[in-house]
Amino acid sequence: MVPTNRGSKVKTIRTFFSGSPIQRSSKLRADSDDLYRAYRHPDTRFLPVWQSRCLVAEQRAVLLGKSELSAYTDGPDDVIFLGRLDERFIFALALPDHADPAGTAQAEFIEVRKLIGQVDETDAGLLAYARAMVNWQQSHAYCSICGTRNQAIEGGFVMQCGDVNCAQRSFPRLDPAIIVLVIDRALCLLGRQPSWPEGQFSTIAGFVEPGESLEDAVRREVAEETNIAVGDCRYLASQPWPFPSALMIGFHAEAGSQSIRLNDAELAEARWISREQIVEREVMLPPSASVAYRLIEAWFDSGSDQPLDALVPAASSWRRR
Ligand SMILES: [Zn+2]
Repeated sequence: MVPTNRGSKVKTIRTFFSGSPIQRSSKLRADSDDLYRAYRHPDTRFLPVWQSRCLVAEQRAVLLGKSELSAYTDGPDDVIFLGRLDERFIFALALPDHADPAGTAQAEFIEVRKLIGQVDETDAGLLAYARAMVNWQQSHAYCSICGTRNQAIEGGFVMQCGDVNCAQRSFPRLDPAIIVLVIDRALCLLGRQPSWPEGQFSTIAGFVEPGESLEDAVRREVAEETNIAVGDCRYLASQPWPFPSALMIGFHAEAGSQSIRLNDAELAEARWISREQIVEREVMLPPSASVAYRLIEAWFDSGSDQPLDALVPAASSWRRR
């Protein structure tokens, strides 16, 4: 009999798009003289973002010197200070949509979502960070109170209304979403969205709503999608998901009931799945770079002599088994 994971140890989980070695040096954002010196420093490097895409070569992020980007920046007001990496100051720089950045480097601008599982893990978080900040700034060009054009201040981390009588400030936005593996002894609850092919399953997920704790959101989402009642839940890991600004917050939860009924249209199918069924490949699991996979893996490994990845090699994307 396969043991359950109750009471057993679950290892610390690292997720794709997190754990970047960059030091954010947030104090420097508020000091315009230091920021200017950092911008002007010959070793400073810039991460260009164009049409929500980042520059990548040979699975690594491409950092450019200012001379390669001089057509796009005049000073620290039009870049975003990301932090320090290997003693260098790093800025993100948004290139205009109409630019032709092909001439800036022998590298390719790639949509960050397509980099999942493909790009070096230490660079993935840096690219996601740059893209998220540029996307946030571009979507906050105007004051939401009075409609005046905003100005970027504090290294690009604050967008402030240009009307001094209003001076409304906006801060980088994150949309928290829960993602949960519900566990009933030796079974886990997985669902298939209507647009996914037969056999492709993942964990339950959804955005946290105003007035909810994370635990409230776990209980509501699981009940809405499957009619399963949730008992205790336990936080395991989180994952930045900058498409455009989600933060996935991952849980294991104990099932308080077993009978599945699809309550809304979010899932086409939901099933209780055993470790044996996973090993027999009755279901296709999410890609290894997703926090969903890591939640399933943590549960699987806590009750198995052999790790999941040794028994069923993880896919780097949905399309490759
Ligand atoms: Zn305003």
